[in-house]
Amino acid sequence: MPPLLEVDAVEVSHGDLKAVHGVSLDVAEGQVLALIGANGAGKSTLLRTIAGLKPAGQGRVVFAGQDITHLPAERIARLGIAMVPEGRLLFPALSVEENLLMGALTRRAGPWSLASVYELFPMLRELRSRNATQLSGGQQQMVAIGRALMSNPRLLLCDELSLGLAPLVIEEIYRAFARIRGQALAIVLVEQDVTRACAVSDQVLCLLEGRATLQEASAAVSHAQIAAAYFGE
Ligand code: ATP
Repeated sequence: MPPLLEVDAVEVSHGDLKAVHGVSLDVAEGQVLALIGANGAGKSTLLRTIAGLKPAGQGRVVFAGQDITHLPAERIARLGIAMVPEGRLLFPALSVEENLLMGALTRRAGPWSLASVYELFPMLRELRSRNATQLSGGQQQMVAIGRALMSNPRLLLCDELSLGLAPLVIEEIYRAFARIRGQALAIVLVEQDVTRACAVSDQVLCLLEGRATLQEASAAVSHAQIAAAYFGE
């Protein structure tokens, strides 16, 4: 079966700075790819390019057999790619429930609805009328995840789910992640915690200054390999 997502020799620049140098990856339906690498390695840029938020200078992004490299982000969302962005980027003037419903604007058929998101994060049901700005960081992350799920994506792009959150909240987010994974959608996950990244993924891809330095089955990868790829030793 062809992969659901295929990124082929993609190059992305911010002005004169090339942030992603010829990176390729494949993610099959139901698989999780963890994207690791130091700050500034190009992880967010690559996710944003897949989502159509940052154009690729070279290379191709193919989703479900369709070349989406030059499609606008809104079309890509409608094809079934949703993103949990770094910093959550909730709509500050809207309530929790209104934020979740924004995710349903590009809704496809599937298991996720307000009811199933509230079941995943029961706290959000209690907070549903609360303004997004009145939430803790962990609660905001739950809304950002729920909003992405509301579209019933085939591919979920997650940028640093645990950034800045307390350990107990991170555990809660990753318990939910395991349930989301169980719904058989493909996931690309940027995660700074390398041990966790390997534990929750099928493949791991390490970027160093925009280049792929390791691409391996997560179960097969050693700490020494990761350290070498991460620091370029
Ligand atoms: P982090 O973990 O810090 O988010 P990252 O691996 O996600 O890092 P990117 O955010 O993709 O890395 O950044 C890759 C490179 O591109 C960095 O050198 C960064 O400074 C630069 N960069 C990112 N966004 C922009 C932008 N909007 N304008 C200019 N340069 C940018």
